[in-house]
Amino acid sequence: MQVPGSESMKDLVKSTILSSGLLRLISPGASAAILMYHSVMENPSQHADSLGGIIHSKSEFRAQMELLARDYHPLSLEEVVRKLNAGEVLPARSVVITFDDGYTDNYEVAMPILNQLGVPATFYVTVDCVEKRKLPWPSRLRFAFRTTKRPRWTDARAESWNLCNPESREQAYLAACDDCCQLAGATQEEFVTSAEKQLQSRVPDDFNSLMMTFDQVRGLVRNNHIVGSHTMTHPNMAHVNECDAEIELVESKRTLEAELKIPIPHFSYPCPALTPHWSERTVAQSRAVGYSSAVTTNGGVVRAGDNPFSLKRIRPTKTAAGLRWNLECAFAGRTV
Ligand SMILES: [Zn+2]
Repeated sequence: MQVPGSESMKDLVKSTILSSGLLRLISPGASAAILMYHSVMENPSQHADSLGGIIHSKSEFRAQMELLARDYHPLSLEEVVRKLNAGEVLPARSVVITFDDGYTDNYEVAMPILNQLGVPATFYVTVDCVEKRKLPWPSRLRFAFRTTKRPRWTDARAESWNLCNPESREQAYLAACDDCCQLAGATQEEFVTSAEKQLQSRVPDDFNSLMMTFDQVRGLVRNNHIVGSHTMTHPNMAHVNECDAEIELVESKRTLEAELKIPIPHFSYPCPALTPHWSERTVAQSRAVGYSSAVTTNGGVVRAGDNPFSLKRIRPTKTAAGLRWNLECAFAGRTV
């Protein structure tokens, strides 16, 4: 008899627990799982140097959506927010699909799969990146640090970072993110272009077509999906000053409303580098400027009584079996 390896043993234990229905028995009440996707591509490794690990393969994404359409209860974000505000019970095993950033593949690859299966989704767009068709700053910095041939990088405090191997380049990249996430608008752009110049590296121009056009964003709305704001320039909203935070909230809402000719009541917090990525101040600001909901990247499900301006989400793993495990644990009250 063959002894299973530790990974297949883990899978065996998980599938035994799932089929026993034990997790459903300990579920602490009705809740909705808001899933956070970014990018769906035929070949995820193609853009690993810029987008990193946020890409799902088209085949795995389809398998995950088929699972949700078959075994769960896909709801629109609007419906979950409405039920939360009305104090209504959420249907059992509710799931909500969201996408952050605004990549072209959301329109070209993910939307046809969602439409075919009748699964509604919400797409949060980084407005400046769509307007100017450029990748969000974490992707530009990742590409610069991963592909540079320069041996060293000097940060804003004149500290010199070794770039001689992948590990040291990653350390320098993370340090650059800690600094850049506190900047917004023109100051952020200066930081990124200065790093690109020093590292003699720049995201190739054709990578900019990875961001949607406004025509494509309008296409999402025409197909009955929701479009929300993911800020103008993707800063850490809890770490920029109050004035910059307000500009990010207001300008992105105003621009999307002018382009799409519909109200934009939903917001998604970017989560680059430092924690936290939202605060009581940003919750008050987002409500004051006219949003009616905001999603975070704090892990967990949404339950009755939760504040609609700081909704938790779940990062989906890359396989359908992994997603099922994520969801069953989350519905049973375990943070994933
Ligand atoms: Zn983002």
